[in-house]
Amino acid sequence: MIDETSIQVGQEMHRFIADLFPICRSITGDGVRDTLCLIGKHIPVEIHEIPSGTKVFDWIVPKEWNIRDAYIKNTKGERIVDFKKSNLHVVSYSQPIQRKMAFGELQSHLYTFPDRPDWIPYRTSYYKESWGFCLSHQQFKEFMDEEYEVCIDSTFEEGHLTYGECYLRGETTQEILISCHICHPSLCNDNLSGIALSTFLAKALSLESLRYSYRFLFIPGTIGSIAWLALHEGQVSNIKSGMVVTGVGDPGAMTYKKSRQGNAEIDRAFSHILKASGKKHSIIDFFPYGYDERQYCSPGFNLPVGCFMRTPHGEYIEYHTSGDNLTFVRPEYLEESFICCLEVLTLLERNKTFLSQNPKCEPQLGKRGLYRAIGGESEGAKREMAMLWVLNLSDGNHSLLEIAERSTISFDVVYKAADVLSEHGLLKEVTC
Ligand SMILES: [Zn+2]
Repeated sequence: MIDETSIQVGQEMHRFIADLFPICRSITGDGVRDTLCLIGKHIPVEIHEIPSGTKVFDWIVPKEWNIRDAYIKNTKGERIVDFKKSNLHVVSYSQPIQRKMAFGELQSHLYTFPDRPDWIPYRTSYYKESWGFCLSHQQFKEFMDEEYEVCIDSTFEEGHLTYGECYLRGETTQEILISCHICHPSLCNDNLSGIALSTFLAKALSLESLRYSYRFLFIPGTIGSIAWLALHEGQVSNIKSGMVVTGVGDPGAMTYKKSRQGNAEIDRAFSHILKASGKKHSIIDFFPYGYDERQYCSPGFNLPVGCFMRTPHGEYIEYHTSGDNLTFVRPEYLEESFICCLEVLTLLERNKTFLSQNPKCEPQLGKRGLYRAIGGESEGAKREMAMLWVLNLSDGNHSLLEIAERSTISFDVVYKAADVLSEHGLLKEVTC
């Protein structure tokens, strides 16, 4: 499935991130709808609305939050902190407020990041009634002991939690889940890079004839995956593999966090592809923190869902600050992440199990022209070895990925060997 379509994809992903960047997103509200609308220009996305107050396991869908404006004005009437300049300036889910107050009172509602005095931090207060402003430490130092006018023009209403879903139907109802969060405002790596990767993977896959069905979820973090799982509990058994994608555009090495199961097909597919890439990477074990894999891998579901990223969240200084911007995320890293995920999905599509049709002693390959058909000398020897492994382990109990792992031959070579052997009637696919 990997061809010229992936060339330049990093640039296109970066342009898409730039389109999404200005929107003020949160876990509910019009920013999410506007984001889904832009995703819908690339892929068919169905928009779902879950009413506020809906009980989803131990949680309740919160009221819908929208914001029009926010500022802090000094005594001269100048906007010294202005939401219209950066949506990071307001703590997400801030209660509305409009009044004058002394600096002493205002101070406890101001958040800065002194380590990088020119950056604005990103803060949220979803489940606690509160309000606040985030600003650079440089801005903060200019405050004086005087009165300020504070305005947050936000609303909390009985509304909806909005999420998007793109379903690509394959030959089977068994599906591969790809999930990303869409609840952060102007932050590129944490949020927008995952959205771009999911969107462009869906776009690429929609051009293929697929064995598995694919479900792409564009959801607010935590409450979105909890709500989706609560409302679709009956169908999660269709999920054969899955991945949460996030933070895929920074310069750090590619990282795959295994599912809670630890040895699921998706875990082994990522390990195999990352090792075969020859690129610096890391594979880490599951831990119950991070992104929505926490919900998919909660013990009542224990789905084979891992998390693909580059530098893990919190391990880069730009994380949750205005430093996570369009300069931090680069097309070449987006493209590398895209290719890795597409290779993993290609592997899953091709990872079949076969039964040798000639299990009693080796079949005579020479008389079938198989030795001659397989190219140059050293390549030829590798492919012959791959054929011998495939023939030996195709007893109905070993998938091609298992054969690749055991033989330490790359999946691609094993797959091609199985293809040639099938063409000669020496293998038959086992379907379960
Ligand atoms: Zn985040």
